[in-house]
Parts: sequence; C-alpha cells; structure tokens
Amino acid sequence: MAMRVLRGIRASRTVLCRLPLMLTFGVISLVLTVAVGLVLGSQIHRMVERRSVQALTQSTQSAVAIAMSTITTGVTYGRGETPMNTVQRAAQVKVISSVSKVLVANSETVVVVGMLANGMVVGGAGEPAVGTMTTLNADFRAALAGQTLVRTLNAGDGATRTAFEQQVLQRNGSLLKFEQGVRLTAGGPIVGVVRTYTPLRFADSRAAADTRSILWMLVFGLIVFWGVLFRLVWGASRIMKRQSKANRHMASHDSLTGLPNRTLLRHRTNRAVRLAGQNGRRVGLLLMDLDRFKEVNDTLGHHYGDLLLNQIGDRLRQELRATDTVARLGGDEFVVLLPEIFSVEETVRVAQKLNLALRQPFLLDGIVVDVACSTGIATTPQDGEDFDQLLQHADIAMYAAKRDCLEIVVYTAEMDSYSRDRLTLLAELRSALEHPEQIVLHYQPQADLGSGAIVGVEALVRWQHPEQGLLTPATFIELAEQTGIIRPLTWLVLRSALEQNRRWADDGLRVMVSVNLSARCLLDPGFCERLVALLAETGVPPERLKLELTESAIMADPERSKSILEEVASYGIGVSIDDFGTGYSSMAYLKNLPVTEIKIDRVFIAHMDTDDSDAAIVRSCLDLARNLSLTVVAEGVETAAVRQLLQDLGCDTLQGYFLSRPLSPTSLEGWLRRYSPAIAMPRSQQFRV
Ligand code: C2E
Ligand code: CA
Ligand code: CA
Repeated sequence: MAMRVLRGIRASRTVLCRLPLMLTFGVISLVLTVAVGLVLGSQIHRMVERRSVQALTQSTQSAVAIAMSTITTGVTYGRGETPMNTVQRAAQVKVISSVSKVLVANSETVVVVGMLANGMVVGGAGEPAVGTMTTLNADFRAALAGQTLVRTLNAGDGATRTAFEQQVLQRNGSLLKFEQGVRLTAGGPIVGVVRTYTPLRFADSRAAADTRSILWMLVFGLIVFWGVLFRLVWGASRIMKRQSKANRHMASHDSLTGLPNRTLLRHRTNRAVRLAGQNGRRVGLLLMDLDRFKEVNDTLGHHYGDLLLNQIGDRLRQELRATDTVARLGGDEFVVLLPEIFSVEETVRVAQKLNLALRQPFLLDGIVVDVACSTGIATTPQDGEDFDQLLQHADIAMYAAKRDCLEIVVYTAEMDSYSRDRLTLLAELRSALEHPEQIVLHYQPQADLGSGAIVGVEALVRWQHPEQGLLTPATFIELAEQTGIIRPLTWLVLRSALEQNRRWADDGLRVMVSVNLSARCLLDPGFCERLVALLAETGVPPERLKLELTESAIMADPERSKSILEEVASYGIGVSIDDFGTGYSSMAYLKNLPVTEIKIDRVFIAHMDTDDSDAAIVRSCLDLARNLSLTVVAEGVETAAVRQLLQDLGCDTLQGYFLSRPLSPTSLEGWLRRYSPAIAMPRSQQFRV
C-alpha cells in the first residue's frame, strides 16, 4: 500500500515537472485554496450552529424569565391559604397563562411543562400531562437546586427518556430541552421547575442559511484571492521568464558584439562534432586573431576599437551560412565554427573568403581603418574530437601564422612541439630571473656622423641559456612581454646597464647608454621614482641614460605616457622613439612629448641606397625631426653606401653592423681601443683627417 502511495506521489511529481510552471502553480494553489475553503467552511458551519443553539438557549431563557416575572408579580395569597396551595394555584394558573406569552415571545418553543417540587405536573402548554408525576431525575433535582439545564435531544441518540418526551421528539425532530427552578418571589425559595422543549430545526435552518451566505462570501473571497494571487504570480513569472531569458542570453553571448561566447561555442562545437560523426562529415574551427588591433585601439581609442569589433562580427556573419557560428572569445579573437564540411581544403577556402572580406576597409564614424588577421585552422577528426582540443590546436596554428607572418595556417601535429617548447622556455625564463648571471647585456655603439666619435651605446639583452647557449631577444622578449616577465627583466637590464656604465665611467669611458623599455614598465605606478633611485644607487648621472620606447608603447596610453615621460625628462633622462616609422603615432603627439631623439627603423635604412621609397621615407623623417629639433639615429646601417647617403641627408647618429655588431662589455672595450673615428666618417672626410 505504502509502495503504491509512494509510486503515486512520484508519478504526480513527474507529471507536475513536465507541466509548465504556471499551470503547476495554478493547480497547486487552486487545490490549496479549495482545501482552505473546505476547512474554513466546515469550521464556520460548526461555529454558526453552536452560536445559533446558544442564541436559542438565551432567547428561551429570557422568555422563561419574562414568564417567571409575570408569574411572581401576579402572586397574591388569599386568607387561609397555605403557601403550598397558593404556590400550586399560582403555578397552575400563572405558568399556564404565561405559556402563551412565552410562545408568543418565542414561537419556536412547542412544549412548556410546569412542575411542583415533588414532580407533579401542574400546567404548561403543548399537551403537558397535568396531574402526572415526573421522574425526579438528576436534571430535575439540579434545577430545583438552582441550576439552569440545557440539553439537546436527538431522536437517535439512544438516551432513555419519558414517553412524553419521545412523542415530542418524534413530532419535532431534535429538541432543545431547557429546565429551570421557579421562585415565586425574587430571591425566594425554588418551589417548582419549568421545562421547555424547543425544536432545533428552526435554529438549524437559520444556521444553515447563515452558513450558506457566509460560505458564498468565503467562496467569492477565495476566488478573488486566488485570482489576484494567480495574476500576481503570473506577472512575476513573466518578468522572471524574461529576466532569465536575458540572463541566459548574457551567459552565452558576448556583451559587446552580441555574438556567441566561449560557452555557447563549446556547446555548439561539441554537438556539431557528435552529429558530424554520425553523418560522415567534419567540423572545422577557425581561430581568427586581428593583427595590430591593439594599435587601432590605442591610437584611435576604445570607442573605435569597439566599433571595429562589431563591424568585424557583422562582416564575418554575412560571409557565412546560417548554420555556421561566429563567436568572439574576447579581445580581438573570433572563432568560426563550420559544423558540416567535407575536407580541410573547404575550411581553408572559407578562411580565405573571410580574410578577403576583412581586408576591405572599415568605416568607423568617418575614419577608414584597414585590418588584417591571422587564422589558425583545426578540423575533426584528425585535430581533435572536442571543442577544447580543436580550439587549442587552432590556437597553435594561429600562433604559427602570426610568427611566420602568414594569413592562414592549418594545424599539424609538428606545431605542438613548438608550443611545448614555448612553455618550457617560459618556465626556464622564469628561473633565469632567479639566476641573473644568465641575463647578459651586449652593447652596440653609436657614432656621431659628423665627427665619428662614439656618442653612446645601446644595451641589448641576451640570455645565456644553460643548454641552448646565447639566445637573442627574438627568442624570448615577446614571451616576456606576453607574460609580464618583461617587468623584472627590464629592471634587471636597467640595473646591469647602469652598473656597467658606472664601471666604464670609473675607467674614464663616459658614454650615454640607451635601454629599451616596454610600455608595461613605463606605465607601472612609481616607475620614475624607482628609476631615479636606481640612478642614485648606481651613481650614474641621469643625463647618461636614454630610454628607448616604441611608438605603440607610448600610444598604449598617450596621456599617462606623456606625464610619466615629462617627469622622466625633468630629471634629465633622455627619451628616444625607437623603430620610428613603423607605428601609428600621430605627429601631434610627438610634438607634445618630451622626446629628444628618434631612431629610424632599420627596415627603411637597410636598403635606402637601392630603394627610392625607403630613401624618401628616411628623408621625410629627417625633415620632420629637424623641424621638431630632434636628434636622429639611423639604425641598421650595414654599408658604406647607406652611411654616405645618411651623411648627405644630414642624419646625426649612426648605429649598425657597418660600425659594429652588439658586443659583450669586454669585447666593446677592446673594440673601442682599436676604434678610430675615421671608420664612421665618409671617405671624403677620412682623406681630410
Ligand atoms: P631594437 O631596439 O630595434 O634593437 C636593434 C636591433 O637591431 C638589435 O637586435 C641589433 O642587433 C639589430 N641590429 C643592429 N644593427 C643592425 C644591422 O646593421 N643590421 C641588422 N640586420 N640588424 C642590426 P637584437 O639585439 O636582436 O634586438 C632585437 C630587439 O629586441 C630590439 O630591437 C629590441 O626591440 C628588443 N630588445 C633588445 N633588448 C631589449 C631589452 O633590454 N628590453 C626590451 N624591452 N627589448 C629589448
Ligand atoms: Ca632599441
Ligand atoms: Ca629599433
């Protein structure tokens, strides 16, 4: 039995779970309301019944009291009459005469019986057997003792009663029997008992009518209550439904572009992989990372960056089928899911189409911006069987595309070893920071093009790797930038360069030292104080230090960079713009920055003797620098021809393999001893020397 009940509950729970929430609530609340209504109804009914019997009792009691007062006020004692006779007569006469009044006052009372103290019936109304003796039962004696007794008599209650009472009961159904002592005078002795029988059917029908009207009101009230409750909950549920829909959307979409986010993409990819397995198709995942988006963001501001990301999302969508998904993983990374492809080639074709679409210029609030992107591709089944594997491999392919300056790269297993190598290198770089002897500096000299004198050296970091030997910055600087290791590394370089500079100064070699600085370090709070403290500690005058910053490093936060650089410059520390000509910096900014020097990037210098457009760029850089009263360093000078051209154009300083490769401190010292300014000077001048 218990098992069946349990099964029933479980079954109803399953049914309820399947029903819509509101229907479930409606049914449950209705059932509860009806249950409350039934309980309340039955309670009220019982209460009304009790009250109506009470009212009947009271009205009977007061009717009898009125009758009594009539009796007692009318009593007179004749001469020679004993009190007993008088009582008998008075009781007979007065009770009988007052019965009519009692019945008039309370028409529901059908029988009134008056008895003497010895039990003799002496009068009444409604066929009392006058002259008979009543049973002197406990109630009778209690009434004689002054109590008022009220009893309910029911035909079927099984109680023993007199034949008279039986008859009255049969005629009238349930009765209210009322018994009370009779006094002839107020406060006098009780001389008899009066007993009344009142049918309950009138009180019952009144109670039923009262209960009915109360119940109707209750039903109406509960219907209104349930209706209002249902309406409120319905409203709240609609708001919640809308809210939860919005929440669901937010949880699965990118807030900027509205494109699916990683969570939704994971879900869709895994589903696509399952379905593709069944249909004999493949799933392709394209990870697209914009090139130089950061520069757009930094140069034009986040508003334009956001506009660009939105337009890119729209453009990608337009190029794809409705079943494909374009998701944004954050930053400038977009992922395209192709759930039904037949071959890797097909994925590559889609990637080419998308790249072509992105190469069309974007118009952002009146500004035209060009973007390019690197795409990594991974496809099922060979590159992974779920989202995480596919994305990881597409990421590795994308990274390879960036590294090799390619637009699209399809993942291959060999690439994995490259990314593993990267992780290993990162761990080793971290530990190298704890062994500072592994971080060494090489110095590349800079010569004045006019006099040939060595005016400075650029400190270039190298990593003396315990197994791989001396590593160039190309192997680890980018990794250090991406992971934040660049901060401790830069401070290590700064300290080492300044300590070396101090040692050289002590040996009589006073040269300017240039140190490369990443944007992260410059923008770090307290950068300037720390640098000034380091200068004081190493005993190098600020004028002998120059910081080299790229344009994009400054443009990461132009306002802050400007104020930090002003502070730096106020100490006399030089500021140089590195790789000049390759970034996006605006001339207006350069003019306002406390810059002392620009270094024209070697891509323009190296071939300026054979490439006219490179020469034109160098010429205009020099014009600009002259107008802004800046010193110009040409880096990457490899040949005498380039050196000659630079000399002709009026460039100030020369740096490059033509003069010297970067050298270790000891090698540089030897090189300097052998150096003659004539090397740096044009042949024409050399002859004059
Ligand atoms: P950079 O600041 O532009 O440094 C000049 C680079 O050009 C050096 O490469 C140098 O060896 C090379 N170079 C000099 N003359 C010639 C030449 O005539 N021809 C050619 N082809 N190359 C020449 P290196 O030392 O490998 O440094 C590469 C880059 O690594 C640097 O470019 C700089 O951006 C970065 N770097 C080096 N040291 C540091 C450092 O301490 N901190 C930071 N943040 N970056 C550094
Ligand atoms: Ca540099
Ligand atoms: Ca440079």
